[in-house]
Formats: sequence, C-alpha cells, structure tokens
Amino acid sequence: MSELIKEIKNSRILKNNGSWMYCNKCNKTVGYLCYSTYQDFQFDFVCKCGNIGSFRLLYKTDKEPIKSTEDLKLIKNRLCCINDNSPLFTIVDKNIETVKYSITCNNCLTQYDNIS
Ligand SMILES: [Zn+2]
Ligand SMILES: [Zn+2]
Repeated sequence: MSELIKEIKNSRILKNNGSWMYCNKCNKTVGYLCYSTYQDFQFDFVCKCGNIGSFRLLYKTDKEPIKSTEDLKLIKNRLCCINDNSPLFTIVDKNIETVKYSITCNNCLTQYDNIS
C-alpha cells in the first residue's frame, strides 16, 4: 500500500486509517470506515447538530477507477462492493441530515458515489 493522504474537517476518525467516524461538535458517530478495503474515500456530511464536516482518505494509485452505475449493496449494515462483497463503510443515518460520498474499492477499483 502507498502512503495514506488524509484530510478531515470538523470531525475525526478513531484510528489512523479507519474505524468509527465522529462529528467534532456533538461527538456522535456519523459513520464507520473499514480499514483495508478502500482506495479512496470521501464523505461530506451535515450533522443533525448543524455541524458540517468532511473526511477524505486516499491511497494514491496510478490506476484509473471504474465508475459504477449501480449502488453499493447493504450486508448487515455495511455498504459493500457489488463485485467482490468487500465491506467498505457504514453511514449512521440517524445522526446525520445529509451525506455525499464517494468510495473506491481497492480490490477491483470500482468507484461508487452518490454525488450526481
Ligand atoms: Zn454533530
Ligand atoms: Zn470491489
């Protein structure tokens, strides 16, 4: 794996490269990122407390991601890659108003996003 590039605003993540994601204002969980299955992760949220935060965690690669036309699939609260079932992340819907995300699976380099 290449070096992790990380940019986090008004929020925080429990471990260096994954685990629980928190709003910095109300300290509630907004999501959970699986440690080793993403190549690129972007998550912009508006918390129910009014805070606006964002996460970007990226492992640089020369390979081009392939945009998926289909959505991630939900397996036991985890949003997973439809090609290889890799568990990617979880959105804690009850604590956030809105979320925009983009995530690329590091196994098949398929990119899923809800940013139109
Ligand atoms: Zn909050
Ligand atoms: Zn995949």
